[in-house]
This record gives sequence, C-alpha cells and structure tokens, in this order.
Amino acid sequence: MDNENRTEVDDKKEEGGYEEVCYICRRPESKAGRMLRIPHNICICVDCMQRTFDTMGGTGMSPTDLMLFDSPFPMGAGPNLPLIEDDDSEEEDDKEGKKKRKMPSFHFMNLGDFGGFDGIPSNQRVKKNKPKKKEKPVFDINNIPAPHKIKAELDQYVVGQEQAKKVMSVAVYNHYKRVTRKDEDSKIELEKSNMLMLGPTGCGKTYLVRTLARLLDVPLAITDATSLTEAGYIGDDIESVVSKLLAAADNDVERAEHGIIFVDEIDKIAKKKNTNQRDVSGESVQQGMLKLLEGAEVEVPVGASSKNAMVPMVTVNTKDILFICGGAFPDMDNVIKERLNKSSSMGFLADLKDKYDNDKNILQKVTVEDVRTFGMIPEFIGRLPVLFSLEALDEDMMVRILKEPRNAIIAQYQELLAMDGVKLTFTEEALHEIAKQALDKKVGARALRAVIEEYMLDIMYETPKDDNIGEVIITKEYLDHTGGPVINMR
Ligand code: ADP
Repeated sequence: MDNENRTEVDDKKEEGGYEEVCYICRRPESKAGRMLRIPHNICICVDCMQRTFDTMGGTGMSPTDLMLFDSPFPMGAGPNLPLIEDDDSEEEDDKEGKKKRKMPSFHFMNLGDFGGFDGIPSNQRVKKNKPKKKEKPVFDINNIPAPHKIKAELDQYVVGQEQAKKVMSVAVYNHYKRVTRKDEDSKIELEKSNMLMLGPTGCGKTYLVRTLARLLDVPLAITDATSLTEAGYIGDDIESVVSKLLAAADNDVERAEHGIIFVDEIDKIAKKKNTNQRDVSGESVQQGMLKLLEGAEVEVPVGASSKNAMVPMVTVNTKDILFICGGAFPDMDNVIKERLNKSSSMGFLADLKDKYDNDKNILQKVTVEDVRTFGMIPEFIGRLPVLFSLEALDEDMMVRILKEPRNAIIAQYQELLAMDGVKLTFTEEALHEIAKQALDKKVGARALRAVIEEYMLDIMYETPKDDNIGEVIITKEYLDHTGGPVINMR
C-alpha cells in the first residue's frame, strides 16, 4: 500500500494488537470508522452515538462534542454542552479564568465488569494483522508452481493415490491462477475449480487436503456436513464453515478469502429417499451451500459459530475460496455397477452381470450421473466440477504408508528410540503383519497407528530400563505372539 492511502487503521494493524469494536453494533474499527472512547475503555462508533443522541432527543449534543473526551480539554468542555449548576458541580474557573462546562450528571453502568477490559470476550475480538515471523511456505500462491511440482511435493507425504494427486494439483494450480489473475478486464471468466472427492474411509482424503493447505500456506477449515442444517434449525448454519475458516486465518479476512474449506462426509447430505418430512439436514443443506460454492458475500460472526447481537460481524467473499467436498459414498459401487451393467446388458456383446463385482476400485469409474443417482442435486454437483475418487488401500500400500512418507509412523518411533540411543528396525514380514491387522479393522490407514502402538508400548516401556540395549528388531513372531522381539546389546 502506498503511503498516501494509508489510514489510521492500517497503521494500527501493523503495530499488532486488536481493532477496537463498537460496543453497540459490534462492528470493528475498520468497518465502522472512528470510535469514541467513553469511560471504562468502552468504544462506540459515531453512527451508534448519533443514534443514541437522536433517541434521547434534543440534548443539543452531537458526537463531535463527545470527541472532546479524547481531547486535551477537561471532560465536558464541549462548546455546546449546557452549563450545569448544581450543588456538587460548582462552576470552577480555570487558570485563564474561563468557565468550564460540565457533562450532565448521568452515570454509565460499569459495563467493563461484564467481560474483558471492555466487555468483549477475547475470542470475539478482531485480530489485527501483525507481521509474523513465518517460515517460508513451500509454494507461493501468488506465483503458483506448475502442477507437476505440486504433485512432487505431495508425493513426499501421500503414498499412492496417483490419479487423485494429479487431479488435485491441476485443480489447485488453475484455482490460484484464477485468483491471482492480473488481467481483470479479460472477457473470459474463469470458473472455480471446486472439487468433489470420493474414497473409502481412511484412504487419505483429509490428509491430502491438509497437506495441500500446509504446502500452500493457506488457511484451512475442515467441517463435517453432518453437523450442518438449514438456518434456523438445531445444528450449525451453513455459513458457519466460513466463520471457521476466518478463525483459521486468525480473523484476517483477506487471508480467509484465499483459503480452502473441506467439507467432509458430504454423502450424508444426500437427498433422503421416500420422506415426506422437511429435509433440513439433507437437500436443504445442499441448496444452502450453492451460493457459498459459487461465490457470495457472507456476513459471518467473528469468533463464534452463530450470529447474535453480541458478536462482531465481518463480510467475507467466498468467490476465491476453494471448496473441496469429500465423502465415502457407501453403496456408490452398487450405483456404478448398476449403470455399467445396464449399459452393457444387451446384444451379443453383453457382459456378465457379475463382471464388476470383484473390481476393487470401481469407485474410479464414477460419473456425475452416479453422484446424482446417489442423491446429490444437479445444481450442487454442477458447482463441484472436479470429480475424482481415491483408491481403497491394500496391504502393499499400507506397508508403504508405514515407511515411505516424510513423517512415516515407523520413522517417528525410530526417532523416539534413537533419543535413548537405541536402534529400532522392523522386518519386512513384521510390516506386512501390521498392515494386515490394520486392514482387518476396516478403517483404512487410520488403524495403523493403533495397531503399532499396541506392540510398541512394551518396547518403549522396557528399553529405557536397560542402558545396554543397543538395538531392537520387531519380528513377525513378536506380532503374532509366537515369540519376542530380537534385542541386541551394545
Ligand atoms: P479420510 O479419507 O477418512 O479422510 P484421513 O485422510 O483422515 O482419512 O486418513 C487418516 C490417516 O491415515 C492420515 O492422517 C494419514 O496419516 C494416513 N493416511 C491415509 N492415507 C494415506 C496415504 N495415502 N499416504 C500417507 N498416509 C495416509
């Protein structure tokens, strides 16, 4: 920002700290303009002050008179204030012999006693952007690298899911190119690359999004579609997702407007079949999300998930927010199979009915039509143009997840034991056994840590007891309880 256009608010923002918030309308200084400070550190914007005077009617005062509270004049020295003559407020002569005017003797309730120093709970204060000492982000969204570079970074953390990583890299690349486009006058309007991803539980949907947001250094809000309901019903308003994003961006509106919102369990808001009640958490939520997905100005409460009179509000534009919706879509395989069978069940070339029954990655064949059959409304699907699915994890992939990512689980345990000077190794067979046991739990890669923790507990309890232990080898026998780990002394 050039110096001429700087405002007082900008200066204060740089100093760090919080913006003042009007005690009456809860608007922050950046929206409401200059604040008047009244006793007990309460701030009131000029609009609200004017309205208060109008209501009181004809005192002859204007907010500008009260500005003098801030001035070096003694309190109540405004030119229009009436002279009060009562017992305990005698007129006094000041040094120059001029008469001072007194404020009418009305008392302010000590509102400061109700909350923080000015009655505003600390989680509702609008944070000023203070210059943070930050690590350099891997990617700069203003100069977004080519998709293959984004994918290469993702590869370091997320195992497999090649197609998903590729699709996401391209979508993110296009999205931020669109957001930072300089040529505003161009006639071609670029559409948002909101995404819809399908994949069984624990296959890395949330992890992918989280990793992406971290690499891009953009705020991320993760929300569950199950908790959302149409406004006015019990549950979170749809707009509360934007409020969460704002919180993730430290209440910095500009940062939030470039963030990512991940709505998990999106399949749970599919249209309910055969119901004659009002569907407040299904189809209505889809309807309600339409305008957010496309881009709208929403008034969101700062530091709270619901709007009420006591919460300051800010306007966030969702047009540059990237929405990613994810869900397991159970039974989607049947919908896809049905479609595939239908399209190939006639004539001499007809396929066998069970041709797709053993296809583990049938979800990869998903189309917009299937998602609609599942119960998502066409307008909703239309606003999530990037549709893709993740693979179900198999044993080999689980083993790779154990050892390959940058912060692999195995590496974490090795690091922990290395601090005690102990070398930890897993045999290849042991890793497969862990993967097998985790697969049985049917919660995807999430089970890996639970399984491994169970066996590592004893190791981590016993090894620090003896300083002579130099190496521990986890074997398959230890895992299937037919033997113990191999311990080598120093
Ligand atoms: P969901 O698909 O249900 O959202 P998550 O993304 O939460 O599953 O995955 C759970 C955990 O499993 C993640 O925190 C991550 O550590 C691990 N994980 C899942 N898939 C992968 C993968 N492909 N590569 C590396 N880790 C993975």
